[in-house]
Amino acid sequence: MNQESMDHVQLLIVDDEESIREGAKRILTRMEFDVFMASNGADGLKIVGEKDIAIVLLDLKMPGMDGMEVLQRIKEKYIRVLVIVITGFATLETAIEAMKGGAYDFIPKPFEPDQLRIVVNRARETIRLRTEAEKLEIEKRRTLVDLGMEKSRIRTIIESLPNGVVVTNRNGQVVLMNPAFQRLFGLSPQTPLHNAINFYVSEEELCKLVIDISKGKYIDFEDIPTHEFSTGSGQYLMARGQPVLGEKNECLGAVVTFMDITAMKVLDRLKSEFVAKVSHELRSPLSTIHEQLGVVLRDAMEEESQRDQYLLTRAQEKTQSLISMIGDLLDLSRIESKSAKMDLKPIQLEDLLKSVVDFLDVRVKAKNQTLTLKLSETKLSELTTDPMALESIFGNLITNAINYTQDGGRIQVTASQAMDKILVSVEDNGFGIDAKYLDQIFEKFYRVKNENTRFITGTGLGLPIVKGLVDSLGGTITVESTPGMGSTFTVMLPVNR
Ligand code: ADP
Repeated sequence: MNQESMDHVQLLIVDDEESIREGAKRILTRMEFDVFMASNGADGLKIVGEKDIAIVLLDLKMPGMDGMEVLQRIKEKYIRVLVIVITGFATLETAIEAMKGGAYDFIPKPFEPDQLRIVVNRARETIRLRTEAEKLEIEKRRTLVDLGMEKSRIRTIIESLPNGVVVTNRNGQVVLMNPAFQRLFGLSPQTPLHNAINFYVSEEELCKLVIDISKGKYIDFEDIPTHEFSTGSGQYLMARGQPVLGEKNECLGAVVTFMDITAMKVLDRLKSEFVAKVSHELRSPLSTIHEQLGVVLRDAMEEESQRDQYLLTRAQEKTQSLISMIGDLLDLSRIESKSAKMDLKPIQLEDLLKSVVDFLDVRVKAKNQTLTLKLSETKLSELTTDPMALESIFGNLITNAINYTQDGGRIQVTASQAMDKILVSVEDNGFGIDAKYLDQIFEKFYRVKNENTRFITGTGLGLPIVKGLVDSLGGTITVESTPGMGSTFTVMLPVNR
């Protein structure tokens, strides 16, 4: 253990005069030193070697080994020990010499107790300050080592991540990228930092998103849109960005991760192709069965066989719903494979909505519901778009509103424009949808199953078709719903596409 860190400092008196040794010991013990004594230099050196002596009171004039020699040996081997030489008037010069030889202080002999106290206390204070300074230095070094280790640990983790990671500052300049990012974008490991994001990534829309996030545009967003794109070499990536926030919630930049989703995309395409092929193969035999059922049903009408009529009608309803489902599946796979041809025409959305609403009026009346179309006073901008896609979008949304709203319910379609965006919302006061299903309803074949929906037939393909079409028109669809109160689906369509 280090003597200097203990409360009791160890002190050695080396003097051949017993009265001096004993007198000094009394005073110093009272000052709470651990006092050791030696009557000659050789014994003194031995004690310094064995104990953890911090201060030595050393008489310069002793028989045997001379005090100067003892001092020299102590300083050679135990540099930290403070030596206070005790010297008579006659040896003042020697005292000065001793100071040059490394003695800490000197005290003339004979000395008053106070003189001794002052000199020894000063030595003790020097030791205390020295210990404290050393402690601080060690702590500082440890903190720096810890920090360094923490930093290199985080760096190692980021470098080992299988996903690409890139960090930008608030100007959208790249300040960190990991090897996976470099691999995904075909960059060499020596690629320099500090360039704008578009130096490394050519996907324009993504760069715009990264810059927007870096500049703080998405600070209050819970769900920042992900961005899927192809790198051109048949590889698909999904980017997900997040702002990096400082202590005062200010935006410091963005962190963006990149995941290779090529395998998922390929699988998805194979699945869609399979579904499309099977649907296509099923469509013609089913249509034939449907038509033949029609012929047999007509015959049954003539023969007035109630039972046959009932059975055949049911069978025809089933084949009809299968044909509709196949139609939906084929639509969906066309939308997903982006092979659906857009037939672009100038369209006044108000007219299109009126005709969809009129077309569905029969179903609305059958359920005693009211369906109103609320248009803004100013005319909407003309859209150049595919009318079939729009009819399918709003046809599906309004049909759902009718289906999932009780008899006598209310449905309202509203169209308005804000700058270069047209908003159409379909609002009902029907069954509503539990928040936990709101994401799932846009997935293929997903249907909410509960007491209200039990007897409503459907395929779970309507909303995926709607979403696919809205996406292909460059728009977005959102939904808000409260169970028991109703739902509002809102479609945003850009005017200039
Ligand atoms: P389908 O209507 O054929 O079941 P969709 O994809 O159109 O398929 O809708 C998926 C599910 O979303 C529906 O089964 C229904 O549970 C729910 N849903 C859709 N629209 C509404 C609505 N307006 N009100 C309540 N639930 C709805």
